Amino acid sequence: MQTKKIKAVLFDLDNTLVDFMRMKNVAVELAVDYMLNAGLPGEKQSLVKEIFKIYRRTHIESQRALDELIISKLGRLDYKILSAGVIGYQRGRDMSTYPYPKVEFVLKELLKMGMRLGTISDAPAEQCYNRLTRAHLINWMDLVITFDDTQEYKPSAKPFLLAVEKLGLDVKEVLYVGDWPERDVVGSKKAGLVTVFARWGEHPQAKNTGADFELDSIEQILDVVKKINS
Ligand SMILES: [Mg+2]
Repeated sequence: MQTKKIKAVLFDLDNTLVDFMRMKNVAVELAVDYMLNAGLPGEKQSLVKEIFKIYRRTHIESQRALDELIISKLGRLDYKILSAGVIGYQRGRDMSTYPYPKVEFVLKELLKMGMRLGTISDAPAEQCYNRLTRAHLINWMDLVITFDDTQEYKPSAKPFLLAVEKLGLDVKEVLYVGDWPERDVVGSKKAGLVTVFARWGEHPQAKNTGADFELDSIEQILDVVKKINS
């Protein structure tokens, strides 16, 4: 039974605060447009698919996916095509990294309610901080935990426990919001936090996530905090 009041609200970053997959799709499409313009042979949609295949085989944050694609097509790295792809990727990424609707409104309301705010992300530190900065979310955060802090991915309890320790709070005073049941919900529950499943993210169809609260929109977090703290 929840007897403590919530004092901090922590969020997963990708597909919870920022629509990461949309960003990735826009960035990869522009990268391919630019590379085709620079002379890469092939057809747009199949090249886009090949890049995502490389991401799935390596890591979605791979910095070498374009290199790999070019080498697979030409048998060597062509820097004219690579730089075109990198610039296209960056332009697509920069214009499409922004928060979901109402994110800033909700963060502001939570601050007014006296909450401390933070992010716990599996992304490497550099990518996590860059995305928070690009999305103009960095200054809202009292706390940012990335993969680099614990070297363990969710659902490890470690990143959650480190966050709680850094805040100097009890686990039951911290609400955690994330969109990936097997990672966000399982991990934060294991650590003992109050858990919220974000249905607006990458797993809208997930059933019986085990979260304390399953929400369809980010605004509903305000009701959850009010309810617990009343
Ligand atoms: Mg996520």
